[in-house]
Amino acid sequence: MTPAFEKLQQHLKQLPGLGYRSSERIALHLLVEKPARLPALVAALEEAAKSVRRCSRCGNLAEGELCGICADERRDHGLVCVVEHVPDLVAIERSGAFRGVYHVLHGKLSPIRGIAPADLNLPSLLERISAAGVRELILALSNDVEGEATCHYLTEHLPKDPPVTATRIGFGLPSGGGVLYADSVTLKSALEGRRSYL
Ligand SMILES: [Zn+2]
Repeated sequence: MTPAFEKLQQHLKQLPGLGYRSSERIALHLLVEKPARLPALVAALEEAAKSVRRCSRCGNLAEGELCGICADERRDHGLVCVVEHVPDLVAIERSGAFRGVYHVLHGKLSPIRGIAPADLNLPSLLERISAAGVRELILALSNDVEGEATCHYLTEHLPKDPPVTATRIGFGLPSGGGVLYADSVTLKSALEGRRSYL
């Protein structure tokens, strides 16, 4: 193989879910089998790198200051669903069961892995609650020790006046599983069956 091919493959291999074989296959596909697709892919990567960023309010993907959900006045902005990652938000949106807004933490607290509140999009959630009149948080975090620790931290730090309700989805989700891999029906029942966390 050539040095440029090796370099491309090395970059592909660093992407999630791609190992040595799959990165080699993709590099060969792009350079040898379907080179005509390459300019459009390069242009899409450049455009995405230039225009996609985090929503300043919730942490979702956005192309302006706010994402489409935060900018949508028809949604219930007093009801905030807290998720770990953007794909979790996408999965809940796909279920069609939720008309509130979101807050994406980009991870969860983990003392073992050294992930503290400041490493996550978490301080901004507490500021947002105080400033924006949020009345309920739906904690859609995974059903594991780190998810529990994050829920616990949040409920400990919720503003007392005016009070904020915290509910936790749990019903229907497998133990140790996350939101991302749940099907729409499971997610819908998990949201409807949320319970008080305080
Ligand atoms: Zn947003």
